[in-house]
Amino acid sequence: MTRLWNEPADFADEMIDGFVAANERYVRRVPGGVVRSTVSPAGQVAVVVGGGSGHYPAFGGLVGPGLAHGAAMGNLFASPSTQQVYSVAKAADNGGGVFFSYGNYAGDVLNFDAAQERLRAEGIACETVTVTDDIVSATPADKHNRRGIAGDLTVFRIAAAAAEAGADLAEVSRLARLANERTRSFGVAFTGCTLPGAVEPLFTVPEGRMAIGLGIHGEPGIDETDIPTADALAELLVERLLAEVPDGVEVAGARVVPILNGLGSLKYEEMFVVYRRIAQLLTDAGLELVDPHVGEYCTSFDMAGTSLTLFWLAGAGEESELAPLWDAPVDTPAYRRGSVAPQQRVLVTDATADLVAEIPDADEASRAAAQTVLAAVRTIVDTVDTHVDELGRIDAIAGDGDHGIGMQRGSHAALAAATAAVDAGAGARTTLARAADAWADKAGGTSGALWGVILNAVAAKLADEGRPDAAAVAAGVAAGSRGVTDYGKAEVGDKTLVDALVPFSTTLTGAVDSGAGLTDAWRAAADAATRAAARTAELLPRMGRARTHGQNSVGTPDPGAISLALIVTAIAETLAAETRATDDNEKESANA
Ligand code: ADP
Ligand code: MG
Repeated sequence: MTRLWNEPADFADEMIDGFVAANERYVRRVPGGVVRSTVSPAGQVAVVVGGGSGHYPAFGGLVGPGLAHGAAMGNLFASPSTQQVYSVAKAADNGGGVFFSYGNYAGDVLNFDAAQERLRAEGIACETVTVTDDIVSATPADKHNRRGIAGDLTVFRIAAAAAEAGADLAEVSRLARLANERTRSFGVAFTGCTLPGAVEPLFTVPEGRMAIGLGIHGEPGIDETDIPTADALAELLVERLLAEVPDGVEVAGARVVPILNGLGSLKYEEMFVVYRRIAQLLTDAGLELVDPHVGEYCTSFDMAGTSLTLFWLAGAGEESELAPLWDAPVDTPAYRRGSVAPQQRVLVTDATADLVAEIPDADEASRAAAQTVLAAVRTIVDTVDTHVDELGRIDAIAGDGDHGIGMQRGSHAALAAATAAVDAGAGARTTLARAADAWADKAGGTSGALWGVILNAVAAKLADEGRPDAAAVAAGVAAGSRGVTDYGKAEVGDKTLVDALVPFSTTLTGAVDSGAGLTDAWRAAADAATRAAARTAELLPRMGRARTHGQNSVGTPDPGAISLALIVTAIAETLAAETRATDDNEKESANA
């Protein structure tokens, strides 16, 4: 039960405010999360972690010397947006590149990858290692698809210690990958968790029962039993983890770090009783226990549960690369090890200066094109506003009913950003890029991130000089379409917005290639998208939230495909009106 909040919608933001106010010695706030408030050496690889909020001390509590340089902090149990990740990484970068690490969840991967692409495009080197320690969430053969739970800590620490020791980006990622390979976790839960303001827990476990293998957001486990004794639980955890020792590790004589993690409302005393037996069992198995951890490292709001992580520093007789890194000192709000030398604080003026992004210069032709971009974004807003209830209704049939309001939040934010950019004299590219970022940042949900990808891809093919031609727009849409399939991994036929986007893009490119003007090509493409969106009614969803309630949705089209078709259809009219206006102007000036 979460008892204290003001407006539930403000909870995550207010939590970060309070967290920063209480920890100014370690962290300062930047848009999207926190970065260290202490100076890091120039050229040091910046370790940026993150994820949804509700997992404290993950992720903000792990920022400080010896651990992360920054944490992107999303809403409760929701991935940070691309813009949030990007902004935290920009602020954290010391000129040595950015190393991203976070638990392997689809929404996080999508947004961190999109931010990584943007940073790379700006010339900032980036590498990523996702944490995949939860052995229950996929078979050993499929272990790269496992989700990340308390094992985050080991991977983050190894990466950070390597960065602190002066390793370059490639070496930091190599060591982090090794640490992930050597980290295995297994968890159980006794109760679900209740988000602030919610009347029902997110999930429940029957009274007196224990869910085995439950994820940190209530993802299904593999089994359920009566709650065992503390010793029997210890035996279960150890038995499962010793059944999956990392490749090439000789168990007898191996050195391991055991981490018994509390998920939010289990008492430390209960965990110590369980750990007593864990330590006996691991020692009996011939392991050498190094630096045991019992406490809260990655929680799940107020969920009662625990997980055991084994971090295999070295097999018997193996020279360990990881052990010396594990000894490095750490000093963060929630986690300390050894003693870190006093640190110099960042001057606040330095800290804020880097955050004000300038509007690049634009010529008159591109500023005129920016007006068309603005008109198109306004059309999107009107279209979404008109259809908001209908989109929500379709999404509720197999999804969660938020597609209308998500699109509304995203498009309105995009309009505000595009308006501000145009007012500041931005060209077409910058105007659309600002709109894209604002959309992804404010929309939330899968579709918000994907619309950010689409609009950013189109923006990248425009320029702040000259008037964009039809070929540039078609190339941008094609890049957006590829971006969506790269990030979202859905293919045509999976019942997603891809089903409308792909025919839209191919028809647009085809028409432009055969010499049509933008307006005519766009209209033909919009018609193709509309027909394809309608046809999604027959399909079974294979991606996204709708997957689990697939059967319900047969007979109803995909909400994301429908909203895309409605939007591109309305934009066809905007383009026609803009073209007429431009032609009239040109005639007038020719006549004058
Ligand atoms: P959420 O699913 O996070 O609640 P929305 O309700 O705003 O987000 O959007 C749902 C739409 O997102 C779906 O109708 C589908 O078109 C699209 N979608 C979901 N997952 C994917 C994916 N992996 N690739 C492409 N589109 C997707
Ligand atoms: Mg939804």
